Amino acid sequence: MKAKLLVLVVLVLAPLAAIHAAAAAPASKPNILVILADDLGYADVGFNGCKDIPTPNLDTLARSGVRCTSGYVTHPFCSPTRAGLLTGRYQQRFGHENNPAWLPQSTVAGLPLSQTTLPQILKTAGYVTGCVGKWHLGAHLQFHPNRRGFDEYFGLLGGGHVYLPGAKGSAEYQIPMDRNGRSEPLTEYLTVVLAREGSSFVARHKGQPWFLYLTFNAPHTPLQVTDPLMERVKHITDETRRSYAGLVVGLDDAVGVVMNALRESGQAENTLVFFLSDNGGPVSVTHSDNTPLRGAKGDVFEGGIRVPFLVSWPGRLPQGQDYAQPVISLDVFATAVALTSANVPAGHTLEGTNILPYLMGRQGGAPHDRLFWRSGGGAKFAVREGDWKLVGGRNGKTQLFNLAEDLGESKDLAAVRPEVLTRLSQTYAEWNKDNVAPLFESPQANRPKAPKKAGQK
Ligand code: CA
Repeated sequence: MKAKLLVLVVLVLAPLAAIHAAAAAPASKPNILVILADDLGYADVGFNGCKDIPTPNLDTLARSGVRCTSGYVTHPFCSPTRAGLLTGRYQQRFGHENNPAWLPQSTVAGLPLSQTTLPQILKTAGYVTGCVGKWHLGAHLQFHPNRRGFDEYFGLLGGGHVYLPGAKGSAEYQIPMDRNGRSEPLTEYLTVVLAREGSSFVARHKGQPWFLYLTFNAPHTPLQVTDPLMERVKHITDETRRSYAGLVVGLDDAVGVVMNALRESGQAENTLVFFLSDNGGPVSVTHSDNTPLRGAKGDVFEGGIRVPFLVSWPGRLPQGQDYAQPVISLDVFATAVALTSANVPAGHTLEGTNILPYLMGRQGGAPHDRLFWRSGGGAKFAVREGDWKLVGGRNGKTQLFNLAEDLGESKDLAAVRPEVLTRLSQTYAEWNKDNVAPLFESPQANRPKAPKKAGQK
């Protein structure tokens, strides 16, 4: 009789325990917040040594986590970088190597539907997914964020936007805001609006694991800044840099607003935050600063691809530390998958690494044996292996640098270390075998230019 009672008790309680476990499970899964800046220079944040632009909120975020001093993106300009980030794969594997023009009728100019995205995968692990901000992965309805894995979307679908309501700009830069497929007018300063929408997502989804891809278009052109922002950077004498600085300060404010929303809703300890720029600063355009790196947006020199890069997770990751081994935007996807046990479909080969064990100090060595870049179908390419960096192009001389001794890539060692040059050239050729030709071209205005001759900047 007692045994029967015990069986009965177990039968009654077991489902309750299962329900309890299921209810508790989501809380154990951390939220994932990816904050992407647009065209932010390596040296234009306080945490990387900037002196003239105040970025207190970003500096606080840096102190709360790990600063990756060799943090890379997979491309030196906007859309391909985003394609790599959201698929966890080198975007040259599937032909996304240029910026799509604003072509709402084109089913080609956008992130290929053959690719699975990070939000699609996180949804299999019970995550609610949101994108707020710049999309730039295709204008056709089939490429809309809501069709590419995001439960919620608000933002600018093109490659950029005017910041001030009613300001003049190209057609792409004046399209209305999009909220889940419906148009809304821009009624306030854009960076402020994106901060509020990001904060709203964070607050509304407390209690359920969420992924937010918060992609500011700041500090990308146009250099449109409110008077109060300009007041805070009036000490900067160069007019172009002063306006750019205003955009950066607006971005920093916005990051502060969203991080505050995280804290106020009690989610700071349960949220893994990545902050990075989609490419280096376009120095000649915005007077951004990639010091001490050579080159700018569009280059495969460090200035085009090494970006401000933070990873923060209070309580889980070290705080206020630097990590010097190379990491790359591809790692966001791989890290998210490892954290959440999300299902990656067969055939979707991830090319990043779960970097948390490295950042936690549990794993030594480097997360990557080597990293690769290719732009313009091979017009420019680069390889990093340890301290070595190979930089080449279809029409230019292939150069070799040692970044440990020459971070500014000023001393070409190709003739001094021919065996390294040969090895890295072969490594690149091997990697390149798995790439395809670009599926679409960038609009004429922002096509990558042919490489300049050796020694030129
Ligand atoms: Ca960009």
